[in-house]
Amino acid sequence: MGKGFFKVPVAVNEPVKTYAPGSPEREAVIAEYSKMFRGKVDVPLYINGKYVTTKNTKTMSPPHDHKHVVGTYHLAEKNHVEDAIATALEARKSWSQMPWEHRAGIFLKAAELIAGPYRAKINAATMIAQSKTIHQAEIDSACELIDFLRFNVQFMTEIYQDQPQSTSDAWNRVEYRPLEGFTYAVTPFNFTAIAGNLPSCMALMGNVVIWKPSNHQVYSAKVIMDVFEEAGVPPGVINVVFGDAAMITDTIMASPDFSGLHYTGSTSVFQNLWKKIGNNIANYKTYPRIVGETGGKDFIVAHKTADAKQVATAIVRGAFEFQGQKCSAASRGYIAKSIWGDVKKHVIEDLKTIKMGSPEDMDNFVTAVIHEASFDKLANYIDQAKKDKNATIIAGGNYDKSKGYFIEPTVIETTDPKYPTMCTELFGPVMTVYVYDDKDFSKTLKLVDETSEYALTGAIMATDRYAIDEATKALQNSAGNFYINDKPTGAVVGQQPFGGARASGTNDKAGSMQNLLRWISPRLIKETFVTPTDYRYPFLG
Ligand code: NAD
Repeated sequence: MGKGFFKVPVAVNEPVKTYAPGSPEREAVIAEYSKMFRGKVDVPLYINGKYVTTKNTKTMSPPHDHKHVVGTYHLAEKNHVEDAIATALEARKSWSQMPWEHRAGIFLKAAELIAGPYRAKINAATMIAQSKTIHQAEIDSACELIDFLRFNVQFMTEIYQDQPQSTSDAWNRVEYRPLEGFTYAVTPFNFTAIAGNLPSCMALMGNVVIWKPSNHQVYSAKVIMDVFEEAGVPPGVINVVFGDAAMITDTIMASPDFSGLHYTGSTSVFQNLWKKIGNNIANYKTYPRIVGETGGKDFIVAHKTADAKQVATAIVRGAFEFQGQKCSAASRGYIAKSIWGDVKKHVIEDLKTIKMGSPEDMDNFVTAVIHEASFDKLANYIDQAKKDKNATIIAGGNYDKSKGYFIEPTVIETTDPKYPTMCTELFGPVMTVYVYDDKDFSKTLKLVDETSEYALTGAIMATDRYAIDEATKALQNSAGNFYINDKPTGAVVGQQPFGGARASGTNDKAGSMQNLLRWISPRLIKETFVTPTDYRYPFLG
C-alpha cells in the first residue's frame, strides 16, 4: 500500500435467511436444487487457473439418494500434483508481492458473490453433496463462509497495524511476510465454510495454496472454486486437486518447498500427517507450520438446578442437527438424576415430531449421514447397545440404507460412564447419557474431564451460579469452546472463535486473528537515521 492507510469495511455477520414457506430465498434454493439434482456436473481439477481433466473419474451421489448420480469428478495423478506445486511456486512470485488491499478486495468480493448471486447455488450444492437441510446449509455454506471471508480481511488489517515502538533515531517496522514456499489445505466433508476458509485465509495472507477437499464434498467445493475464480483469485494461487489422499499428501510433503499444513478432519489422519512432516523435517527449506482442528467427544453436563426443557432442547439440537456430524455435536450427556425423568420425557416427545428424509423436503429436520462406511459404523454401535446389559436405547435405534444412509436420532442411556459410546467419536446422530446422583456433581465433573482424549466443546447447564463456577473451573481444559446454558454447537465467526486442544487439535481458533498469525512470518526492519562512525563507547574514556 503505497498511497494511503486504507480502511476495510467493518466486518458484520451475514444475517441468516429464514427460508420460511413462500419466501423468495426458499423458491430460489428449491429451483437450484432441482436443477443441480437432475443435471450432471463434471468437476475437473483446477491448476494454474485451468480446468484439468484426467482419465480417472468417480461419480458423485447424494447421501440421501445414493443410487442417483449428480455428476463426476476427476482424480489427480502424481504429475498433476507436481504441476500444482510448480504452478503455485511460480504464482507466488507475483502474489506474495501483491499489495494487501488487492488481496482484501478479491476475498471481500468473494463474500459478496456468495451473499448474492451464488447463495442459492452454494446452499443447493451443500444440500446435495453433504445432505444438509436448508437451514444447516445456510448457516454453513452461505453465512459462515461469508463471515470467514469478511472477518479475515479485518483481522489481516489488525495484524498489519501491530507495529513495534520506534525512537527518533531509528524506525522499527514489521512486515508480515507470507510463508516461503507453498501451503497445503486438507479439508473435511462436513462444513463447506471450512473447505472455503482453510485455503482462502492462507491465500489472503499472501500464500499460495494446494487445496485437497474431501471426496464427499466435491460438489460444493466446485462452487467455491467458481466463486474464487469470479472474485479474481489469480491463476496458481489456489489450486484444487481431488483423489487419492495419501498419494497427494506424499507428493506434497516430499517437496522441500512445503511450508504449511492447514488441516481439519479426524484425529488419526492428522497425527499421520504430522508424522510424515516429522519424518521429512530435514528436507524442508523452512519449518512447516502445522495447524489441525480434529475430532471431538463433546458433552452436556446438566446440574440438578438446570431447566429440564432447556436441557432437552440443547440435546435435540446439539446432538442431532446435521445428523450429529458437527465436530462440536453433543454426544455424551451427564444429567442429574432428579431432572432426568423430565429431560428424558421432553427429548422423547421432541424426537417423535422429527421427520427424516431428503433435504429437498423442507419438513425434514434430519437427513442422511455422509457415506456407507459411516452408516455401517453407526449401525454396529447401535446393534451392540441393543445387546449390552449396561445400555438401553431410549429413543431411535432404527436405520435403513436402502435409498439413503438414514440413521434415526438415537439416545442410549448407560449405567457405565466409560461405556464405549461415551468415549469414542462416532460422528453421527447417537447421543449417550449417563445419569448421576445429584450429590455427585463434583465427582461427575472429574469424570467428564477424564473420559475422553478430546477437548473440543462442552456445555454446563444450571441455574445455580456456584455450580456454573465450579464446572467452569473443573472443565477448564476439557473444551476449547465452553458453553454456559447453551448447546455446544453453532460457533459464529467473530463471536466464538473455534477450536479445541488435547486430541481435538492445535487450537489455533478458526475465525480469529490467531489462526491468520500462523500463515505469516514477520520480518523486522530497523532503519537507523544517523549511522555511527566511531566504534568506541563513552565508557572507554
Ligand atoms: P477425514 O479425516 O475422513 O478426512 C479429512 C480430510 O483428510 C479429507 O480431505 C480426507 O480426504 C483427508 N484424508 C483422509 N485420509 C488421508 C490420508 N491418509 N492422507 C491425507 N489426507 C487424508 O474426516 P471427515 O470425515 O471428512 O470429517 C470428520 C472429522 O473432522 C471428524 O473427526 C470431525 O470431528 C473433524 N472435524 C473437526 C473440526 C474442528 O474444527 N475441530 C471441524 C470439522 C470436522
